[in-house]
Amino acid sequence: MSKQVFTQVIRGAHSWVSQAEQALEKALAEHGPDKPVGWGPQTAYYLPMSYALMGLEAKTLGDLRVQVQHARELLQPIPSEELWLPYLGDGLDAGAATMLAQEVLVALRTVNGHVMPPGWQGFISDTIMRELGIQLVDGRMPGFALILGPAPTTEIAVGVVRELQKRNILVFLCANREGKTMREQMVEGGVFPDDAPMEECWDLYVVPVGPDTLDGIYVLNWSIRSALTFGGHKRGESRKCLDYTKRRIHAFGITFGEIPDDWYAMGAGAILMGYPVISDSTTTPEIRPTGVTVREALVVETDHEKLVPTCIDTRAVKVKIEKIDIPVGYAAAFEGERVRKEDMHVQFGYKYSPAVEYVHTVDGSEVQDGQVELFGPDIDSATEGGAMPLGIEVLVAGRKMARDFEGILERQIHRWTSHAMGFMHTGQRDQIWCRVSKKAFAAGFRLRHLGVILHAKLHEEYGGIVDKVAVRLFTDEQQVRKLIEEGRRAFTYRDDRIAGMTDESVDVFYSCTVCQSYAPDHVCVITPQRLGLCGAYNWLDGRANYEISPTGPNQPIPKGRTLDPVKGEWEGVNKFVYEHSNRKVERFCAYSLLEAPMTSCGCFECIVAILPLANGVMVVNREFGEVTPSGMSFGELASVTGGGAQTPGFLGVGRLYLSSPKFLAADGGVKRLVWMPKQLREAIRERFQKEAARIGEPDLLDKIATEEDAKTEEEVLAHLEKVGHPALALPPLV
Ligand code: SF4
Repeated sequence: MSKQVFTQVIRGAHSWVSQAEQALEKALAEHGPDKPVGWGPQTAYYLPMSYALMGLEAKTLGDLRVQVQHARELLQPIPSEELWLPYLGDGLDAGAATMLAQEVLVALRTVNGHVMPPGWQGFISDTIMRELGIQLVDGRMPGFALILGPAPTTEIAVGVVRELQKRNILVFLCANREGKTMREQMVEGGVFPDDAPMEECWDLYVVPVGPDTLDGIYVLNWSIRSALTFGGHKRGESRKCLDYTKRRIHAFGITFGEIPDDWYAMGAGAILMGYPVISDSTTTPEIRPTGVTVREALVVETDHEKLVPTCIDTRAVKVKIEKIDIPVGYAAAFEGERVRKEDMHVQFGYKYSPAVEYVHTVDGSEVQDGQVELFGPDIDSATEGGAMPLGIEVLVAGRKMARDFEGILERQIHRWTSHAMGFMHTGQRDQIWCRVSKKAFAAGFRLRHLGVILHAKLHEEYGGIVDKVAVRLFTDEQQVRKLIEEGRRAFTYRDDRIAGMTDESVDVFYSCTVCQSYAPDHVCVITPQRLGLCGAYNWLDGRANYEISPTGPNQPIPKGRTLDPVKGEWEGVNKFVYEHSNRKVERFCAYSLLEAPMTSCGCFECIVAILPLANGVMVVNREFGEVTPSGMSFGELASVTGGGAQTPGFLGVGRLYLSSPKFLAADGGVKRLVWMPKQLREAIRERFQKEAARIGEPDLLDKIATEEDAKTEEEVLAHLEKVGHPALALPPLV
């Protein structure tokens, strides 16, 4: 703890208490002890701070004696140069003494006929507390800031206030330096006119409370009332009230310039309530240990651009962005919207250009919340109907963020970006395919709007784990390819985590219904040995997402009684799938292609299709552009496989499932694989070899035909016979 800080706090508190003592004695001499004090019908809590902390019902000047005496008793001597006992408790007691003394001082104003100058709020009534306090405690209003100013310049003052407004954070202004206030800076900067009525200021979320430091107590005694009103705590339950404000009211203080003693004392009061203070002065010593406040208590941020993000981080404010500022409509209703070729301005990914989306965690110091950067040309430069490379890199920071959550956040990109009218998104990871419609382009939609969407939605839906979000968009092909490489390393890491777990080793599987917007009856059942068919969600992801979002799209599915271990049929899973598929899918066999297979939405990485003549199955990945031995291209196969219905003989799968011991286990397993594109065969080689070795067929992969060996089902059969493929020795598939 800094000796300097607590010396100044205690010295400042002594000064406040002395002022209160003197002012009270003067008032008593003038009016006598029975003179009523307080704000009358504006509050039911007498002097709210002493009511909450001391249980005092101060109604008269005489009652204020008790309050001032208690404030005096809380004070320790001002630390001397020689002897110093670094007690945090003494500093916090000095904060409490300051708030009680300040409250007496403002209460005495009601006796002395003091009137707030025009344009300043002064006391804040219970009515306002009820109207806004409920938003503060239920999170609709993320928090409030009490600023002691002025800022060094009007530009800085306006910049900071605008950043807070953007985040819906209520701003209170008080104090002055040599007569200059932040209210004046707001007027100079055009935030509101000098004659703005107070209602306008409340509507703007920028409320000048009073021109003096003392006026800050109006804000603190307003916020302590929330513990009494919304927290249900009783008068005098000081610990409970302070714990409530710390946990439920996301407030913080900002101080501009060097901090004088009286500000320090008031800051200690704020800290006691759980509200940290952020100073822009290099002379302020920091108080980093946490405990009294949720995170650090006193933090220095000299870069005014970073001041608000630092406040947000220090107070752990969960930012909510109400309106997504993009030039096209934004609603869940647009999620299933397709952008047809003739309506398209430009597209990204699939077989037309390299594209990737990748979410990863970074340290909080490396990311500026809300920053969206574009590297490369925007879509203005695209040839209409053409394709461009696209890399979407999302950097997230959060003290509760874990690497295990990255894949989950990343998978939401599909849903969030699809909600923008005229933007189509399918796929995941390095398999995305996006289109921007001509109409969206004409309306002004540009790539940076993807960043605006992702920033807002990540805060909105994952505010519990995400504190800061920045988005980098790339259209430069070299940079996109670099991001693909980086992403692939992370994707491999994510896929490897599940290795070693089996379906038998768990009692619950996880559902995924993210894709029900496209395929309303579709439910992915994710097991340890069978990932979601998009390839982006495995069982660990399902579990992690359920932890983060217990009512979200990934729900635990208790397996229940095993009905058939070979086909992979369980009573609990059948019940769950039936209830969550709009009662369309009655049975689900996890390991069968032909009997009650899983439904397929449209996001699958690969399609498995039966080749009856070859007594096996072929598999084709999204990137393969030719006609397959089934006589259909990927796109044609997708139209018979997708949509959320069970289609025996056709199955959408994640490519990792091709190497799983549970791959079509009821139908003969990987030995049924008779054809796949060469590129896919090489991509799965490393993982597949393990499964091939396990079943005693170490050269199975090379016996599988590719487009170089066979283009028709007959040619596949001829190839199998030539290489001695084990599928031919299996029982007939149909
Ligand atoms: S394909 Fe399945 S696992 Fe992937 S997002 Fe859609 S529903 Fe979820």
